[in-house]
Amino acid sequence: MNFGAHMSVAGGLHKAFERGAAVGCRTMQIFSKNERQWQAKPLADDDIQRFKAEQARTGIGPLIVHDSYLINLASPKDDLWEKSIAAFADELERCDQLGIPYLVTHPGAHTGSGCDAGLEREAEALNRLFADGVGGDTMVLLETTAGQGSCLGGRFEELTWLIEHVSHPERVGICVDTCHIFAAGYDIRTPEGCAAVFERLLSLVGSERIKAFHLNDSKGPLGGHLDRHAGIGEGEIGLDGFRFIVNDPRFAALPMILETPKTDDGSADIHNLTLLRSLRSGQSTDTTAKVE
Ligand code: MN
Ligand code: MN
Ligand code: ZN
Repeated sequence: MNFGAHMSVAGGLHKAFERGAAVGCRTMQIFSKNERQWQAKPLADDDIQRFKAEQARTGIGPLIVHDSYLINLASPKDDLWEKSIAAFADELERCDQLGIPYLVTHPGAHTGSGCDAGLEREAEALNRLFADGVGGDTMVLLETTAGQGSCLGGRFEELTWLIEHVSHPERVGICVDTCHIFAAGYDIRTPEGCAAVFERLLSLVGSERIKAFHLNDSKGPLGGHLDRHAGIGEGEIGLDGFRFIVNDPRFAALPMILETPKTDDGSADIHNLTLLRSLRSGQSTDTTAKVE
């Protein structure tokens, strides 16, 4: 299975690989710039070469970039919307330069204009970038959200609407965040619940559209619209839901990324990754096993 985690790029983008390898990541998500700032220094050729060399050395992939939290492609405010489009263009170009196939983004927040208007803005922003060929083949993965406040993406139908209204659907996929869908009201605590929820999702977006998972347990309750991540099995979802997902053959080839609480020494990531591997049927349930 392709299990991994979101890893820090402190000290340089290439540094994520040694951190990922140390905790046993097969795949990885990173920020390609400071996620709380609009601007980033352009990537130097040297940065790109070091990054690619470290990827080749560790064999970690496929890689995913998560975009900046400041970006809101659904904003009704023209200045913020234009700023978001420019920043998202930069995110796409950085992925293309680094050879990273997927850029995960939240479908934005309508901040009062209403869901329909927000979705229209989101599609228009993506279409402008796709029409200009920004980011080469980099795929935009729309992340399922907890549907908190005016945030879009808490209902699967909203993601379907976006896929149907982008001019280049081959450049759009879905990243399923387990904490978020649970917080949005989709009950994945039991095998029966998982079967129903994923059947609904796949019937709406198609299985080939799902490109990645964020595996996070949820601190908040079902339908609580609270975006608070817990370690695997330490939240309200529990192990049965994760056992279903990691054994579902429809998802077997997909990168599955932890965004769970971390410790400085990497032990929390090691624990969660070991636990996920142990949930695979036929695997031992010994979660104290060391990662080589
Ligand atoms: Mn996210
Ligand atoms: Mn996520
Ligand atoms: Zn989240």
